[in-house]
Amino acid sequence: MEEGVINYKTSEEIALMREAAQVVSRTLGMLAREIRVGAIPLHLDRMAEDYIRAEGAEPAFKGMYGFPNTLCLSRNAQVVHGIPDQQPLREGDILSVDCGARLHGFYGDHAYTFAVGEVALPVARLLQVTRECLYKGIEQMVVGNRIGDVSYAIQEHAERHGYGVVRELVGHGLGKSLHEKPEVPNYGRKGSGPILKEGLVLAIEPMINMGRRQVRTLADKWTVVTADGLPSAHFEHDVAIVNGKPEILSTFAYVEEALGIKSDNHGTSI
Ligand code: MG
Ligand code: MG
Repeated sequence: MEEGVINYKTSEEIALMREAAQVVSRTLGMLAREIRVGAIPLHLDRMAEDYIRAEGAEPAFKGMYGFPNTLCLSRNAQVVHGIPDQQPLREGDILSVDCGARLHGFYGDHAYTFAVGEVALPVARLLQVTRECLYKGIEQMVVGNRIGDVSYAIQEHAERHGYGVVRELVGHGLGKSLHEKPEVPNYGRKGSGPILKEGLVLAIEPMINMGRRQVRTLADKWTVVTADGLPSAHFEHDVAIVNGKPEILSTFAYVEEALGIKSDNHGTSI
């Protein structure tokens, strides 16, 4: 893969990428049934690895840049890249589950933030708004727009609610590599950045903090946490531009089914 070049995908490649994304979607759906008070993050990680391998795919994150596990499990003030541990989940926690799988040579990379039991109302609101940010960004993925239009839509929606938009970590192109060009910041100016063309596939992934946007990395060199200790949420979809418009390759439908949530029509496609 040539550095710095955007790899536009054919419809055949996008079909394969949907299969990879859907392995991750089903993994998140399986996990949705296991995430509860008392669940052990490291056990969730093992279940996810077994599930992905049983689907004939490989965990994408394990060993990538030296990451030790299948899932990034980031709890409460952890933003992303949390390492699964043995601390049982507690009532009122939120748990961001970021999962990647490789199938037919292509990557899926998809995330959902779960509430553990009942969460405080302001935390539930953070989850809802972060999810909305994801779809606001996806709506901008039309031919002729620019990356900055996606970025701006996410930032505007988050900041309108008083939340902080993480800047140190960004979304990205996706394909035969987990991280391809272009970068997709969750903040930016309308009309700026690379133009969006047919066959572009992006992982769009707002990371939104309840408080200030600043983050720091823990001594484990992986776990990113909010500087102010307030919670952070993360939702991610894999999205292709097909016939000029966004087509979501991943889906929250399995998660929603497991949680008994009625889809808000933002689960599968727009
Ligand atoms: Mg991810
Ligand atoms: Mg990603």
